Amino acid sequence: MSQRFLPYGRQVIDDDDRRAVAAVFDGDFLTTGPYVEAFEEDLCRVTGSAHAVVCSSGTAALHLSALALGLGPGDVVLVPSVTFAATANAARYVGAEVMFVDIDPDTGLMTPETLTDAIDTRSAPGRLRAVFPVHLAGHAVEMPAIKAIADERNLDIVEDAAHAIGTRYGNGEDWIAVGGCRHSQMTIFSFHPVKTITSGEGGAVTTNDPRLAARLKLLRSHGIVRDVSNFVQRDLGFADDGSPNPWYYEITEIGFNYRITDLQCALGRSQLRKLDRFVARRAVLVERYRQALAPMAPIVKPLTRVHGCQPGWHLAVALIDFATAGVDRATVMRELADRGIGSQVHYMPLHMQPCYRERYGTKSLPGAEAYYARSLSLPLFADMTDDDVDHVAATLAEVLGIAP
Ligand SMILES: *Cc1c(COP(=O)(O)O)cnc(C)c1O
Repeated sequence: MSQRFLPYGRQVIDDDDRRAVAAVFDGDFLTTGPYVEAFEEDLCRVTGSAHAVVCSSGTAALHLSALALGLGPGDVVLVPSVTFAATANAARYVGAEVMFVDIDPDTGLMTPETLTDAIDTRSAPGRLRAVFPVHLAGHAVEMPAIKAIADERNLDIVEDAAHAIGTRYGNGEDWIAVGGCRHSQMTIFSFHPVKTITSGEGGAVTTNDPRLAARLKLLRSHGIVRDVSNFVQRDLGFADDGSPNPWYYEITEIGFNYRITDLQCALGRSQLRKLDRFVARRAVLVERYRQALAPMAPIVKPLTRVHGCQPGWHLAVALIDFATAGVDRATVMRELADRGIGSQVHYMPLHMQPCYRERYGTKSLPGAEAYYARSLSLPLFADMTDDDVDHVAATLAEVLGIAP
């Protein structure tokens, strides 16, 4: 029997992480020092992308991506309805509108069909400019097909991989790391403690486009230009002898403070070194859940696995037919919590949130609503034991009134 409370997700911090953070205090910088670029280089190596720009959160990464693409008023971004609010909010931050896309109720993912359906059958309140696919729970969206649709319509793609660091997809011979941007302009990650690896708070954008990378870096820190070769006001920037004025910098467009500290980057680097181990352990735990929950079918089912994907699982989602079980989800969650087991719903569809209902009216997306009705995320983190999983499964069976 587990003694400790099992949250649906949490960080795993070891002594090497503590030492990595402590080492930052021996250097000259707490922020914008050498750890920032080192973390960016590490992320490029892990994802295979040419550029990585780290920043203060996954939300900041999404906002920076929307800015870097030049999205704004009159533009429309396609976003799956089942995702964390930040995916859609990023479009709104820059004044663009959101068109919610339905998902497959068994995988939780946007599909080529749901994307095409949204494009063809729903009236957009502006010009379609971009799509933000979400690799929900760590499962990869079918990116080659999404890219083909986007190319046909001239849409840019930003992958929201907040759940999917370490995920690979491909045809069995050629495995592509999520974040390599093989089928997108940019990919964003989050390093919030609940995600697969953490920097405390933090995020990143990866891209293969040097111009996008430069814009992301510019907007991350107030839009400040320090490279003398890019100064536009030569009379103010340079002395009479042609040398650059030592105090001078330029702000050509308004940016933000979305920087990340060296302390956070040191933790992020240390955690990234364990990514393979964390992903492998999470895969073992998810497989154990699959076996432990199997006798509870058809009332309880795991997510349907998509083909051609090696997931870096972020969530262990169970799809539960609460009506047939005869017990509602709130009761199940409370009774699990009473027995030391955390659970959560990822997520209520965004088209049902008041802020989006007020803006776009009441819409119906049947796949998203069916997924939402059944989904419950069970505990999953890298230092859970096999016994923890068996305990969660047995307790869930008990709470649902399913005989073992
Ligand atoms: C966590 C998350 C984000 C935002 O990341 P933060 O680092 O918390 O700002 C964005 N999208 C999804 C799908 C997430 O789960």
